[in-house]
Amino acid sequence: MGRLGMLLHRGPLTLLFDYGLLPSRPPQYPIEAPPVDALLLSHAHLDHSGMIPWLTAAYDIEVYGTPPSLDVADLLLEDSLKIANNEGFRTAFDSNDLIRSRKTFRSVQFGDALDFGGVEVTAHSAGHIPGATMYEANLEKTVLFTGDLHTLSTDLVLGAKAVKCDILVLESTYAGRQHPPREIVQKEFLKKIREVNRRGGVAIVPAFAVGRTQDILLTLARERFDTSLDGMGKTVNSIYSGHAGFVRSVRKLHDAMDKANVVSGRRGLERALKGDVIVTTSGMLDGGPVLSVIERLRDDPRSAILLTGYQVEGTNGRQLVEQGTIDLYGVKIRPKCELQKFDFSAHAGHDDLVRFVEACDPEKVVLMHGDNRQILADALEGRECILPQEGEWVTL
Ligand SMILES: [Zn+2]
Repeated sequence: MGRLGMLLHRGPLTLLFDYGLLPSRPPQYPIEAPPVDALLLSHAHLDHSGMIPWLTAAYDIEVYGTPPSLDVADLLLEDSLKIANNEGFRTAFDSNDLIRSRKTFRSVQFGDALDFGGVEVTAHSAGHIPGATMYEANLEKTVLFTGDLHTLSTDLVLGAKAVKCDILVLESTYAGRQHPPREIVQKEFLKKIREVNRRGGVAIVPAFAVGRTQDILLTLARERFDTSLDGMGKTVNSIYSGHAGFVRSVRKLHDAMDKANVVSGRRGLERALKGDVIVTTSGMLDGGPVLSVIERLRDDPRSAILLTGYQVEGTNGRQLVEQGTIDLYGVKIRPKCELQKFDFSAHAGHDDLVRFVEACDPEKVVLMHGDNRQILADALEGRECILPQEGEWVTL
């Protein structure tokens, strides 16, 4: 996870694709964007959307994205501002900037072709989370910007399809790494929950609110667990279920949501603790209702914490994985619960990326965020690969 932004320059026109921040503690901000003509948002995650209110306060522009991307970005931006203010972190914008930015939102559907001063930009599904978008810009050459990309279908969203292009700007988070098949991960995840329940424990499932919570609920709906849902995933659920065209099956998502008890208040938590599974935020154990659950079950070795996402360095989740401890309201504790990780990643793995490049068949590939971009570049032999540094300009 980083803070991503890409500028596309052509004559007097400058388009910005994504403009994010790293939601660490304190947040890390990107290089200041120069004046641009428009922002095209690939998806809602803060590392791609986190600077929108700063941008719209600085420049008189419009922000384009699919309805779920814009709605969820708005929710995440508000939440990030609340956290930053509570913890006394410096922010790049204030709540007035956020309120004003909403007026600049312009909704885009997959297949829509937008016109920016003669440059046509078409939106395609990126498969990463509902509404995640790849943008195809038609200059003298065709440039495809993937944003975060998932090419395999999950219960929540169908995988992205390749788009023929001359220049492919590709995310490469999982360059050099593969994911186990999703079916197998789901089976092992469900099996572990049954095992935890059989020995009298509760499965605590920290999950990111956006995408992951819904994926987990769809997986859990395959069996008859007593599932509880807490945290911001509840709000994201209702946003997604209002945008039927962007999830694989809105009916299945509704069913999965109906099967979970929504936790509210103290009594809700007591009720959840008597059940089988609690799905809650934050996914990296940095705040949110997951901490109250862990506080209650910390001395119960029958219960388990089942991590469902990548744990960024410096987070409580990473500390739990590496040292077996977490900071609970300022006190370091060592939960006695079992700990397991499950790979529910929403990013294409190494081989998926290679296959996607082959199918798009570009002459040049620009590799964006990833720690092992060179491994992917080596695997794409015969194609020109560019690995830009932060702030670097590339001539296409
Ligand atoms: Zn993302």
